[in-house]
Amino acid sequence: MKKIAIIGGGISGLYFANILNSEKNFEYKIFEKKNNFNFQDGYGIQLSVNSIKLLNNIGFKNLPASEVSFPSKVNFIQANNSKKICDIDLTQFNDPLNRYTTLKRSTLLEFLFKNVPENQIKFNSNITKIEKANGFRITLDENTHEEFDYLIIADGIFSKTKSLILNDITNPKYNFNVALRGKLRGDYGSDISIYMASNSHYVIYPINQNNEYNFVAIIKKKLSSDELRNYNLFKSNEFLSSLRSSLQKTSQISFGHLSELKSFPVYVSSKFPSLNEQNIYLSGDALFTFPPSFAQGASQSIETANDILKSILNGSTEYYQKRIENISSINDKSKFNHFSFHLSNPLSVFIRNNILKFLSKNKTFLENYLGKIYRT
Ligand SMILES: Cc1cc2nc3c(=O)[nH]c(=O)nc-3n(C[C@H](O)[C@H](O)[C@H](O)COP(=O)(O)OP(=O)(O)OC[C@H]3O[C@@H](n4cnc5c(N)ncnc54)[C@H](O)[C@@H]3O)c2cc1C
Repeated sequence: MKKIAIIGGGISGLYFANILNSEKNFEYKIFEKKNNFNFQDGYGIQLSVNSIKLLNNIGFKNLPASEVSFPSKVNFIQANNSKKICDIDLTQFNDPLNRYTTLKRSTLLEFLFKNVPENQIKFNSNITKIEKANGFRITLDENTHEEFDYLIIADGIFSKTKSLILNDITNPKYNFNVALRGKLRGDYGSDISIYMASNSHYVIYPINQNNEYNFVAIIKKKLSSDELRNYNLFKSNEFLSSLRSSLQKTSQISFGHLSELKSFPVYVSSKFPSLNEQNIYLSGDALFTFPPSFAQGASQSIETANDILKSILNGSTEYYQKRIENISSINDKSKFNHFSFHLSNPLSVFIRNNILKFLSKNKTFLENYLGKIYRT
């Protein structure tokens, strides 16, 4: 029996635990820093069919229909005049069993968590040392030790574990944007809408069948290193109000109805950590964090975890290496989306809108740009 340590019980770590449940030759333990999970969190997440296929294999399709939403289009709207430019039909990438899905992030986490036996997750974990000794020897702050054959590092964007065991790591960088998240109540339809404004964009989509919507805006903002270190700044009402009032108004959205506002600086990866350590795998944001303009972070976390298990079972890193190539290409596309969503010069906006109108209906382009990711 081989033992696997999963560090971090986020989307990636919990999904990995779920697929290990059916592997008889492995046992696992998750080490999670938090003392518990909060399944009340109302923020949303989009999952494209590539990850939905994998989730459906572990029973995701049995979630009550009222807790998910299946948008059929992405609408592109110019925020300053509220005019719809075009839309992309998402159903062309669906198949009869797997559909593009939006839901609350907490609904996804709760689904993944319920299949993890209680004794296989250790909350409040603080790993202080990892030594290589015929496998891995993990030391926790209460000075207990545990030994494992494999290490899955899935402790998110600011992974501390990476620095405990890898030599060559690059910290994520602030990408000069702040995310403003909130909940919207009302009727904003069943699709995803992207509002493009000067130096910002915002996205609205349903998170269930109860007229609850996720709102997320990505706003360009220069911040000093002192401001970035000041967690209280991002929670302060003054800062939240200033972000809200900087949003381009549109007749279609009542910003006054936004609730549970939260903001945080957007950090992204600039390169991959060195990955030549045997039996150590990085997954999710600990491996690579994208700009949030392609809504692929969670889907890629799930795919990477799946490829890690295939690589372990095959005794080669082939699947894992291939995933890393895919992540690089998605990162390029995320950066390009971000750039084009934030254009401000009227001529550039005019050209972008016309190109977008053309490309959104061009099957060859869509297959290359989205199909290759969604149909893996
Ligand atoms: C504004 C925004 C919007 C987004 N929207 C989408 C979207 O619509 N669709 C999408 O696919 N992706 C989206 N993403 C990206 C997505 O949220 C992440 O890529 C995804 O959550 C990564 O999962 P993860 O498991 O790697 O990390 P996380 O979900 O961050 O989980 C990491 C876990 O590790 C734990 N941890 C941290 N440190 C330690 C430690 N030292 N020891 C033990 N445990 C530790 C944490 O408590 C946490 O539980 C968005 C991101 C942003 C910023």
